[in-house]
Amino acid sequence: MRIALVCVGDELLLGDVVDTNAALVGRRLAAEGMPLCWSATASDDVEAIVATVRDALERAEVVVVSGGLGPTSDDVTRAALAELAGVPLERDAATQDHVVSAYRARGLDPSELSLAQADVPQGAEVLTNRLGTAPGLRVAVPGGSLVVALPGVPSELEALLDEQVVPHLVQRHAGTTAFSLRTVRVALLGESPVAEAVAPLSPWLTEAGVRLAFLASAGEVLVRLSASAPQPEQARRVVDDATARVAARLGGVVSGFDGETLPATVVRLLRETGASVATAESLTGGCLGAALTSVPGSSAVFLGGSVTYSTAAKVAQLGVDEQLLAEHGPVHPDVAAQMALGARRGWGSDWALSCTGVAGPGPADGVAAGTVHVGLCGPGATTVRSLRLRGARETVRAVTVIHALDLLRRAVLGLPTSG
Ligand code: ATP
Ligand code: MG
Repeated sequence: MRIALVCVGDELLLGDVVDTNAALVGRRLAAEGMPLCWSATASDDVEAIVATVRDALERAEVVVVSGGLGPTSDDVTRAALAELAGVPLERDAATQDHVVSAYRARGLDPSELSLAQADVPQGAEVLTNRLGTAPGLRVAVPGGSLVVALPGVPSELEALLDEQVVPHLVQRHAGTTAFSLRTVRVALLGESPVAEAVAPLSPWLTEAGVRLAFLASAGEVLVRLSASAPQPEQARRVVDDATARVAARLGGVVSGFDGETLPATVVRLLRETGASVATAESLTGGCLGAALTSVPGSSAVFLGGSVTYSTAAKVAQLGVDEQLLAEHGPVHPDVAAQMALGARRGWGSDWALSCTGVAGPGPADGVAAGTVHVGLCGPGATTVRSLRLRGARETVRAVTVIHALDLLRRAVLGLPTSG
């Protein structure tokens, strides 16, 4: 079953809003074995939406439409759907009740404009939106194809997609080709070395019908493996097998699988070993703590951290040696080591991570931008990873966080802490 996506909104074309809905829909459908075959963006204009959805219908049996279902005058997706289906719009009583009670709950009276959200193409199936007023719509179009329109608000789109659209599409899809998708996550190895490490598997992967894709971002490469087969178990088995082979080739640089991000992996490893961590940050200004606490359940392992940005704070909060700071300045491996030591002592944690460096853009105190020292103090010893990072200020900070988490991951797993 081919599925295409049309996102509606001038804000997307103007670059004011990043199209996260397209990414979400793509990810969700691929995870269910129904990857999108095509996607396009239309402006807030009936003719543009009709033309773009017709383009999509040339390529797919199901077209998902995002946005333009709200109450404002620029929301014209409903009218476009009616035109595509060749039917008039009519007021849906249940949806009108839903709109009225949603407004009343906020102490408001719905205007005639907001009631227009209850106007649906005749014969359309209404998908009730429990997080908002504009419902989703499932509309049959001439030729037997299906258009599924969802409100543009990302949280509303996500809830409707997961609760009402994906289950329906999975059912519709059943019996046709199954698809399986896995991701191997690699930390701190470039895209080319990752591809080279995996290259010897190429003949086997081709033979098995497994497709490979490499998605690189600063400090991380995702290796995506996918395959289609007549039966779901068949597709899953071949992709699982390929995933294991790829991970084995890559070894210790594999930081996790599928949706488990590096911070999530670190939090899981700490939980599994019953260990705690604290942080002492300089150039990252709290990003390391933020990364750890972005993981649900991190309170079981993360005790706390300090942002010791000034030299004086490194002395006062962490007990870093004043003499050392006077002699070498704050960007020095021994400073990173003492920061980690001070954090571990101060918080009473099993592990402590630290970082000090120059985020850039220019040099500081005669030290080049991108010079970074990451410290780890643990039950065994204190380790420092000294780095020369490239890239803009934000990249240097983000990659520093990845290095710190990777250092801890390796230490907890008993892997060598470098390379
Ligand atoms: P509403 O009831 O809010 O009017 P709607 O279906 O009309 O919903 P839009 O008006 O298109 O949706 O967008 C509502 C909000 O969702 C806006 O803040 C918009 O920026 C955001 N949004 C719309 N489309 C996308 C998208 N593809 N990706 C991310 N955000 C989006
Ligand atoms: Mg709107």
